[in-house]
Amino acid sequence: MASEPKHLYVTYNQIHTLIGNASKRIAEEFPPNIIVAIGGGGFFPARVLRTFLKDTSNGKNIPIQAIGLSLYEDLPNTTAEQLGNQVIRTQWLGPEVKNLLGKRVLIVDEVDDSRTTLQYAVSELQKDVELQLLAFPEEERDALRTKFAIFVVHNKLKPKRGTLPPGLPYFSGDDLPDVWCDYPWESKDIYEHDRLAAAGRPLTPQ
Ligand code: 5GP
Repeated sequence: MASEPKHLYVTYNQIHTLIGNASKRIAEEFPPNIIVAIGGGGFFPARVLRTFLKDTSNGKNIPIQAIGLSLYEDLPNTTAEQLGNQVIRTQWLGPEVKNLLGKRVLIVDEVDDSRTTLQYAVSELQKDVELQLLAFPEEERDALRTKFAIFVVHNKLKPKRGTLPPGLPYFSGDDLPDVWCDYPWESKDIYEHDRLAAAGRPLTPQ
């Protein structure tokens, strides 16, 4: 029987600090016009990141669009055929896809584990953009093609099932071994959560 993965309890403050640190690199290398948050884990990081990026976006709030993705294996009542590591959309962009044209779009999630979700998000958003570009003359399309990048709070250093386009800018708040992260927004008793975090290994470079 597979043994329980090691748990790592992460606090709101640690996550906030990691996002603040990463925001400096993001602001220099890929200041986004739009954030696409992958729900539910990407929502809180996206909102905090927007706070840190506000100074570099002329004091304007960067719009956050939401998409919802789940691995089949995480959903209840899935059939054996659906099991595996497929991703399904629980929420997707509507006509807002048009707003991505010509922009730098940062895709945000809390954790890059097998990378299946991120591969799906990037490839599907790129497909949507290509469809939108068909409405424009060919010579205008390159300039309008959306540039994508990724930010995750935690990247697990492990063999990845998913792949990302070569050269795609990728930012992580922290790189971790293959442990299971317990995030504060998943916890009902935040004080107990913080106690468990304090007893674990310190994560955030101070
Ligand atoms: P993927 O394997 O596609 O990279 O990750 C899929 C999703 O599984 C993540 O977006 C996240 O919701 C969930 N996940 C993966 N690893 C962890 C983890 O260590 N902790 C938590 N809470 N969720 C995780």
